[in-house]
Amino acid sequence: MAAFISSAKSFRPVLLKLFSLKFGNVHHTRTISALVQLSETHEMLRKTCRDFAQNELKPIAAQIDRDHQYPKEQVRKMGELGLLAIDVPEEDGGTGLDYLAYAIAMEEISRGCASAGVIMSVMNSLYLGPIKKHANPAQKEQFLRPFVGGERVGCFALSEPGNGSDAGAASTMAKDNPDHWLLNGSKAWITNGYEAEGVVLFATTDKALKHKGISAFLVPKPMAGLSVGKKEDKLGIRASSTTTLTFEDCKLPKESILGERGMGFKIAMETLDAGRIGIASQALGIAQASLDCAVDYAGTRQAFGAPIAKLQAIQMTLANMAVALESARLLTWRAASLKDAGKKFTKEAAMAKLAASEAATLCSHQAIQVLGGMGYVTDMPAERHYRDARITEIYEGTSEIQRLVIAGNLLKEYGQ
Ligand SMILES: Cc1cc2nc3c(=O)[nH]c(=O)nc-3n(C[C@H](O)[C@H](O)[C@H](O)COP(=O)(O)OP(=O)(O)OC[C@H]3O[C@@H](n4cnc5c(N)ncnc54)[C@H](O)[C@@H]3O)c2cc1C
Repeated sequence: MAAFISSAKSFRPVLLKLFSLKFGNVHHTRTISALVQLSETHEMLRKTCRDFAQNELKPIAAQIDRDHQYPKEQVRKMGELGLLAIDVPEEDGGTGLDYLAYAIAMEEISRGCASAGVIMSVMNSLYLGPIKKHANPAQKEQFLRPFVGGERVGCFALSEPGNGSDAGAASTMAKDNPDHWLLNGSKAWITNGYEAEGVVLFATTDKALKHKGISAFLVPKPMAGLSVGKKEDKLGIRASSTTTLTFEDCKLPKESILGERGMGFKIAMETLDAGRIGIASQALGIAQASLDCAVDYAGTRQAFGAPIAKLQAIQMTLANMAVALESARLLTWRAASLKDAGKKFTKEAAMAKLAASEAATLCSHQAIQVLGGMGYVTDMPAERHYRDARITEIYEGTSEIQRLVIAGNLLKEYGQ
């Protein structure tokens, strides 16, 4: 294990050098060929993450799911490999790769363990994403640099007990007192809420302004006036923590605002646009793991004198799984490539998340069918993939919200 990590560590500078030789630091537009044949750098990254997932995550995924155990050591190693800050510039301590690299890495990590996948996605897209873009140098020093290497994690606190999809209705208050912000209210369902040492928080400074009254804040944790609720007992991704965060007369320094006052809703929405590419990739990893499991089992399980893979009914199922998975992967890589090219990607990210989460649900459901009774018990990973897949249709915007985003953009394109 140690040998793998030390070789992975020495791999990181090679990866960075190769990437900058190939692309420099400028944005580049990819053609469709990039969706068929990955660059050498992306292939190397894929292999590194696949090996890491195979050696470090897959062997423990069932046990940490059963025990609701946060994979602290594995998260630290992911940080060492540069996987928690993939598109953060090197000058800020990040890995300096692009969003396609993030999508590829997320899929491979989630293929090994979907809980590790969500921890990684919160770090890259939801926590470091808005900080990278909007923080000033002093804020980066406190909330970004110490978080890129895996020793500390952060979280993103938008949802509340009273509103999730309707995020503009936030009721956590940030009162503008002369020498501090005074926070009161509760945030719900916060991934990494238990372990996080930094919070990107959304609160309203003026409820009458509705979503235009929301601002983003950076909150250190622990902090006087901020308490953490119990860990939710979840259906899936059970090795990641999900908690409430409650603010009671929590005094925050004036310089804690992220970006401009009143920009919070915009920051949250642009963060979720990018985050959806991460969740799509997590879903791809779960779908791929489900297909792996179904194909392996179909090749060895005997029925009526031959492996069940010889039965056409099983072949139809495997084909449907592969088509759902691979078409969702193309959508996901397209959305990532558009983002890397500096183009609009809101609709494409929503399409990717919708297709990939539905592919994960379909593939994990069908994998259980292929395994029969063995699919229904914890001796095999299929039942875990089925439980893990379900959340990808809910967080960072439910499938209904993705459809609204897609339709809204589509109608605009048609001039309606
Ligand atoms: C495990 C887990 C981790 C999470 N992690 C985080 C996190 O780290 N940070 C964070 O801020 N939040 C997080 N969330 C919250 C998550 O993003 C919300 O649960 C999600 O956005 C849905 O909000 P809701 O639960 O309030 O459902 P609601 O908004 O109440 O929706 C209920 C149902 O109504 C439908 N609906 C709502 N509005 C519409 C509409 N306009 N049109 C059609 N249908 C609609 C929804 O699609 C859904 O089916 C997490 C949730 C879970 C379960």
